Amino acid sequence: MGYVRGLKCRECGREYPVSPIYVCEFCFGPLEVIYDYKSIKKALTRKVIEKREKSLWRYKELLPIDGAPLAGLNSGYTPLLKADNLAKELGVKELYIKDDTVAHPTLSFKDRVVAVAITKAREFGFDTVACASTGNLAHSVSAHGAKAGFNRFIFIPATLEASKIVASLIYEPNLIAVDGNYDEVNRLCSEIANKYKWAFVNINIRPFYAEGSKTHGFEIVEQLGWNAPDNVVIPSASGSLLTKIWKSFKEFKEIGIIKELKTRVFAAQATGCSPITTAIKQGTDVIRPVKPNTIAKSLAIGNPADGYYAIQVVAEAGGTGEDVSDQEIIDGIKLLARTEGIFAETAGGVTVAVTKKLIDSGKIGRDEITVICVTGNGLKTQEALTGHTVSPYFIKPHISSFEEALDKMKRGDQ
Ligand SMILES: *Cc1c(COP(=O)(O)O)cnc(C)c1O
Repeated sequence: MGYVRGLKCRECGREYPVSPIYVCEFCFGPLEVIYDYKSIKKALTRKVIEKREKSLWRYKELLPIDGAPLAGLNSGYTPLLKADNLAKELGVKELYIKDDTVAHPTLSFKDRVVAVAITKAREFGFDTVACASTGNLAHSVSAHGAKAGFNRFIFIPATLEASKIVASLIYEPNLIAVDGNYDEVNRLCSEIANKYKWAFVNINIRPFYAEGSKTHGFEIVEQLGWNAPDNVVIPSASGSLLTKIWKSFKEFKEIGIIKELKTRVFAAQATGCSPITTAIKQGTDVIRPVKPNTIAKSLAIGNPADGYYAIQVVAEAGGTGEDVSDQEIIDGIKLLARTEGIFAETAGGVTVAVTKKLIDSGKIGRDEITVICVTGNGLKTQEALTGHTVSPYFIKPHISSFEEALDKMKRGDQ
């Protein structure tokens, strides 16, 4: 048996037994998994964790499953890379990239949430998993659902990048491209979830699914030698990842794995879809939904489900929010690749560019330890860079042609 006590409404506090539900029957507040931390404190120590397999399941007592993990055994424990070249370029002493572009089968942090959701869906007895996705979730549910033997229904906005569509179809799910934006896809899926007995990972399984994001935070702390950083910069779509990284730090404090928690939490969004950071900057906790218009499609949620809670976390942790233009996102992707050899997708460009902005404006101190969350691989969103990289030197297969090109390179022209 696991260590879950039940579900609790984040608004009115009413508690529910574990089942595939996600809103409070009384006040419609979102439900959150609650745990028996006293028992977890006895079972889960640094030593126990350190002896385990290097996957996201090394923290399984703090994840909402009852039995053995059934998906994502190959996911998580991604590198925390000390980014000295980037630190130098941005003028800070200590900077780290939490690199979720690798060590995940579908190359984004969504493998964390889906590993938990798929395991839970099986525990609940579902035979079909489904999701509303901005792209990465589609890949992850398609892949992990295939391995675990589920029927899969995947709903995406039809405008998604062509490469992201192929990267779902390869796993042969039922892929449904909806003529609408993500928020419209999500609304449709809520209706479908009410009618069909499917495990929609980010709708009726959402309280369990979202807990998977905590593993990104647990790993940061473990990889910093069991310390929480001074600052963490987190890309935000629905705002869930941000709230769960904060929850992971607090849980580690609660069970005595870390003694101190002084981390400031920063939300990063694209200016073309920045309902969360705009509200933070305006000092309000009322989210005004927007129509997304940005190359950072994996973050393009105009009406973020956890936006209100993300704003609360940022306030509690003493951080702030910042957003960046599409051009800054591209520059951020290129900067990370040039300095650290990491090719991030547009969401990674967002966090790098936002971090630069926060350092330049003095909101992140030059002597502090900062972790930048890079959540997806650049090979997934290559279209975004079309026309933004230099071209190759085209030559004939002769040494003379090569040397002509070499001369051009030395002169610095194309
Ligand atoms: C889904 C996603 C996020 C964050 O999503 P939340 O809805 O805020 O949890 C961040 N980066 C990438 C690449 C994603 O796919």
